[in-house]
Amino acid sequence: MKLYSTNNINNIVELKEAVFKGLPEDNGLYMPVNIPVLPDAFINNLNSFSFSEIAFEITKNLFKGYISEEDITSIIENSITFPAPIVSLSKDTHILELFHGPSLAFKDFGARFMAQLMSHFNKEETKELVILVATSGDTGGAVAAGFYKTPGIKVIILYPSGKVSPLQEKQLTTLGHNISALEVDGTFDDCQALVKKAFLDQELRSQIRISSANSINISRLIPQSFYYFEAFKQLENKENVSFVIPSGNFGNLTAGLFAHKMGLPVHQFIAATNLNNIVPSYLNSGEYNPKPSVRTISNAMDVGNPSNFARMKDIFSQALTDDGFTWNNMKTMIKGFSFDDAQTKEAVKEVYETYNYTIDPHGAIGYLAFKEYKKSNPNANGVILETAHPSKFLADMESILNKKIDIPERLAKLSNETKIANFINTEYDPFKKLLLDKYC
Ligand SMILES: *Cc1c(COP(=O)(O)O)cnc(C)c1O
Repeated sequence: MKLYSTNNINNIVELKEAVFKGLPEDNGLYMPVNIPVLPDAFINNLNSFSFSEIAFEITKNLFKGYISEEDITSIIENSITFPAPIVSLSKDTHILELFHGPSLAFKDFGARFMAQLMSHFNKEETKELVILVATSGDTGGAVAAGFYKTPGIKVIILYPSGKVSPLQEKQLTTLGHNISALEVDGTFDDCQALVKKAFLDQELRSQIRISSANSINISRLIPQSFYYFEAFKQLENKENVSFVIPSGNFGNLTAGLFAHKMGLPVHQFIAATNLNNIVPSYLNSGEYNPKPSVRTISNAMDVGNPSNFARMKDIFSQALTDDGFTWNNMKTMIKGFSFDDAQTKEAVKEVYETYNYTIDPHGAIGYLAFKEYKKSNPNANGVILETAHPSKFLADMESILNKKIDIPERLAKLSNETKIANFINTEYDPFKKLLLDKYC
């Protein structure tokens, strides 16, 4: 599998390099040179494939000639280990539950697949690999769980101090072994900036083999396309299917676009955001204006400059066309809506009272977006991605619904564990020094 950089289509690398590098030197993002259209025999017969068979078929088509079918089977068996069930609220409003993995968020799919793929390629290497990951909450927990005790790989998680929930923090800071945490006195964007800077620092990279685990890594996106097929399979009515994606860095939505390119008959994508509405406003105006992120109760989507926007633009552009063309293409396929915290809380209540379903604040924004979209598209058949389990946002959920929320056992037991983290500020040089002191 070959990939190019969104900043230079002639900058082509092999999968292994893209997976370990994360980000090309020219600061673009890797995109597959060829996204294969899957055979009709597969797409029209999804019902006869299990979830892991769907994952296998997609991966096989992408990695053909690069990774043996036997190794692909092992990668899938060790990463796609939990289901992605649809719960229907009504005949045209469905919830895709993506929180059945170890960290209770959809990011488990990407993190586990990436860990398996890196571990596959790492067998050929002698030098230790250090994974740097900035998290606004959920990425870190998923990556930590995904890489825990993977031989030859260390993980360093950067998270914004005070801006992740107490249980999320426990997920990042209590595993130990090959996982360590840096608590940054700043925002998620500051964390992401530190990581990006480290990647562009040739001097650092000559001394430490580093890689990324953010949604910018292509190996995170590939498995996120699996569950679009898995969801589609479960729908009785396969007409007019809209996927509604609560979005921050837009990795999940980009993975949906990949699934569409592979031939999944999606009618519409709906980008749902909180007040960090950079993409919905681009879809409305044609102008892309990144801003500092603002804090909301759907904190995993508090992103002011979505990193996967470059990939989205790439998907909808063609060589030698202007930006207006890209915009037109994108706004046809993707509708965008954004909502504030008050609306989010109302939606959590409404879903509970109307359907007796407990939806988390991120999923609630998806619910609102679909409701809004449906006003002008009454035939829409929506699949709302429920990106995390409500218990991950315990305090907010309990105060909104005024009832106790059940915490799954795998999360509950973390509250007794001790947090271990290094506190750092947002300056690059001390961060770099710490990396060199600790990992060189
Ligand atoms: C990461 C995350 C999102 C945003 O996903 P992106 O792929 O960055 O757009 C939404 N909801 C939850 C719960 C998340 O953890």
